[in-house]
Amino acid sequence: MTERVRCLIIGSGPAGYTAAIYTGRANLNPVLYEGIQPGGQLTITTEVENFPGYPEGIGGTELMDDLRKQAERFGVDIRQGIATQADLSKAPYKITIDDDKIIEADTVIISTGATAKYLGLDDEKKYAGMGVSACATCDGFFYRKKVVAVVGGGDTACEEAIYLAGLANKVYLIVRKPYLRASQIMQDRVLSNPKIEVLFEHNTLGLFGEDGVEGAHVVKRLGEADEERYDIAIDGFFLAIGHKPNSDIFKEWIDTDEVGYIITEGATPRTKVPGVFAAGDVADPHYRQAITAAASGCKAAIEAERYLSEHNL
Ligand code: NDP
Repeated sequence: MTERVRCLIIGSGPAGYTAAIYTGRANLNPVLYEGIQPGGQLTITTEVENFPGYPEGIGGTELMDDLRKQAERFGVDIRQGIATQADLSKAPYKITIDDDKIIEADTVIISTGATAKYLGLDDEKKYAGMGVSACATCDGFFYRKKVVAVVGGGDTACEEAIYLAGLANKVYLIVRKPYLRASQIMQDRVLSNPKIEVLFEHNTLGLFGEDGVEGAHVVKRLGEADEERYDIAIDGFFLAIGHKPNSDIFKEWIDTDEVGYIITEGATPRTKVPGVFAAGDVADPHYRQAITAAASGCKAAIEAERYLSEHNL
């Protein structure tokens, strides 16, 4: 089963839908595959208050529904399915969907996003959207004057702890090692912030609470003779233990950094394969915001349109 399309968009977060709106309006007859998590990471956040144009804020799922409807209005063919294989060795590029159908595409926009890593506790699922978050910039505002915990010891965890310390009354930073992995400057900022208490050599065993997170069961020096288990009272639990960009199937053909983020040419969404573009979090280790993802989706769409016109496709 093979089908030929002019523009294939993989992923349905703000980058994918924005690319779809632009390419749809440009009559490129784009086909968009939604991927593993239709609507992307915003569907697991509660309220989005920093996407321009919504003075009262908007629910993450509602925002993504609106973007989807806007893409549908311009005739975008939105389909369920996951890209499971890619052959970018020559144009037209071949993308296999659900290990079955092959799409031959003149241009490909990779907007597969990144997935926040979780600890793997059942309670993270139980309290998803009820006190558990993987994005302080998205959800921190709801914890003004409250007590929160951030898990992780890297730059992201430090950045999130500092951001949250500007809002909350107290921030615990739960670090599994006896030291922080973050850059020195971030460590200094965390350690000198009176609102942040770093719990070195701590792991989280679980969360508790009636209608949302009210506390965490933690353990100090797990498995050691002086192991100590106790509870901390918190209102929010933030994961900052890294993200995994969803770029695995493309790695053979395009450049990625050591974590897996797709490397593009300068500030453009161009990959090293002509006609293949990357937009959104899959190519962004730095900003990871809905608005920056949407902007890069727009750039990728404009690039795709120019590429098709230059190649008379
Ligand atoms: P990192 O991989 O650097 O750090 C992840 C942290 O999470 C580590 O402290 C790690 O602990 C901890 N961790 C991982 N798994 C678990 C687990 N299961 N339980 C408890 N803790 C865990 O990821 P970041 O997202 O912080 O950073 C990614 C990259 O982006 C880095 O290169 C970073 O420097 C960069 N970055 C730079 C920023 C800046 O310059 N302002 C801001 C944000 C990110 P351990 O140390 O024990 O492995």
